[in-house]
Amino acid sequence: MNPGSIRFRLTAWYTAVLALSLGLFGLTSWLVVKQVLFHAVDEELEDRVEGVRKFMDNQIGALSVEEIRDEFKEHSVLGPGGDLFQVCDEHGIWLYRSASLEDAGVPIELPSVLTKKGSRENRMVKEVSVRFLSRPVTVLGKPYTVQVAALTGEIEEGLNRFRATLLLLIPLVLAAASAGGWWMSRRALAPVDEITATARSIGERSLNQRLPVPPSNDELERLSRTLNQMLERIEQAFQRVTQFTADASHELRTPVALMRTTAELALRKQRGEQEYRQALSEVLAESERTTELIENLLILARADAGKAQLERTLVDIPALLLDVGEQARKLAARKNLIFRLDAFESAPRVLADAAALRRLLLILLDNAVKYTPAGGSVSLRASVAGSRLHLEVRDTGAGIDSVDLPHIFERFYRADKSRSRDLGGSGLGLALAKWIADAHQAAILVESTVNQGSTFRVDMPLENH
Ligand code: ADP
Repeated sequence: MNPGSIRFRLTAWYTAVLALSLGLFGLTSWLVVKQVLFHAVDEELEDRVEGVRKFMDNQIGALSVEEIRDEFKEHSVLGPGGDLFQVCDEHGIWLYRSASLEDAGVPIELPSVLTKKGSRENRMVKEVSVRFLSRPVTVLGKPYTVQVAALTGEIEEGLNRFRATLLLLIPLVLAAASAGGWWMSRRALAPVDEITATARSIGERSLNQRLPVPPSNDELERLSRTLNQMLERIEQAFQRVTQFTADASHELRTPVALMRTTAELALRKQRGEQEYRQALSEVLAESERTTELIENLLILARADAGKAQLERTLVDIPALLLDVGEQARKLAARKNLIFRLDAFESAPRVLADAAALRRLLLILLDNAVKYTPAGGSVSLRASVAGSRLHLEVRDTGAGIDSVDLPHIFERFYRADKSRSRDLGGSGLGLALAKWIADAHQAAILVESTVNQGSTFRVDMPLENH
C-alpha cells in the first residue's frame, strides 16, 4: 500500500468523506429521535399541568387544604404517572406532594422564580430517569407552582440502544464501503498499470510498440490514444534522424572516395605537371562540393536542434535582387542560358535574415540553371500583392515529374540521382530552402511540367503588415 498512490489517496478521501457524512447522519438522526420522543413526553406533562390547574380552579375555593390533599391523592391514582406531581404556594408551602416525590425529597422552585413557560429538566431520582415540568399557575389570584414528572427510563434506554446500533453500524458500513472503494479504484486504475508497464518497455529499438488502449471511452482511453500519437510522432522523427544520418554518411563517402582514388591514381607513378594539375583540380572541385555539403548539413542539423539563429533586419529587397541576379547571370552565361531579372520600381521592405534569403534565392536560381539545357532561359521576378511579397524563379528546363514533385523538398531526395550528382547537387538544396522559407513564415510553391520548365514561388509577408 503506497500512501502516495492515486488509489490510496482516492480511497482515503472517499472513506473520510463517507465517515463524515455517516457521522453527521448518525448524530442528526439521534438528535431528531431524542427531540421527538421528549417532545411527546413534554406534551403529556403539559396536559397534566393543565389538568391540575383546572382541578385547583374548581376546588380551591370550595374545599379546605386537607380536603384538597385528599382530592389530589384520589386524582393522582387516575392518570398514568399521575402520582408524580407536587404543588406548592408562593411561600413554598406544600399544597400537595405525591408520596414518591416526597420520599425522594425532590425540590420545587417558587412560582416567582419561574417564567411563564416554566422549566423542564431531566433528573435521576433513586436511579430512575425522570423528566420534570415545573410551571407557575394562578388560582383565585394566588400563585402556585405545579410540578409534574414522567418516567423516561424507557425512552433513555431506547435512545441508548439506538446510539449503540449507530455506533456499531456506521463503522461496519464504513469498512465495507472503503473495501468496495479500494477494489473499485483498483479496477478503474488497472489500465494505468498496464500502460505504465508497456511504456517502461518501450525503448529506442522498440519505438514501433504501442500502448494498450482500454475500450472504456474515458480519460484513460484518451490518454493512451494521445500517448500513442506522440509515440508515432517520436518514431517518425527518430526514423528521419536515422535516415538523415545514414544518407549524410553515404553522401560524404562518395566524394571522399573519389578524392582518394584520384590522389592514389595520380601518385601511382611519376607523371607530368599537367597530369598532377588535372588530378589536383579534380580533388579541389570535389572538396569544394564536400565543403558545401558539410555546410548544408550543419545548417540543417542546427535548424533541427533549434539552434539556427536568424538575424532579422529590414532587408532592401531590390538591392538583394540585383546582387543575386548578378550571380545568376554569371551562372547562366556559363551554360549559355538567357537570364532575366524583373526588379521593383518601388522598394518594399521585408523583415528577414538577408543572408538566409540570399541563400534561398541562390538555391532556386542554381537549380534553375542546373536543370535547364543550353539555349533555355531562367528568370527572377519580384512583385508585391497586397501585404505579400512574391519572388519567382522560372526556368524552361527539364521540369519535374509529378511523381517526384511531392518529394523534392525532402532531404537528399533527387529525381535523377546520377544527373543531380553530375551537376554537383547534394539533394539538400530545396530542403534548406524550405527551412529558410518556414523560418520566415513564407510559403514556397512549385509548378512544373516535364520538358517545359519549372516555376518556384516564394510568398512572404511584408514588414508593415
Ligand atoms: P540537388 O542538389 O539535387 O539539386 P535539391 O534539393 O536542390 O537537390 O533539389 C531536389 C531535386 O529536385 C533535384 O535533384 C531535382 O531532381 C529537382 N529539381 C529541383 N529544382 C529543379 C528545377 N528547377 N528543374 C528541374 N528539377 C529540379
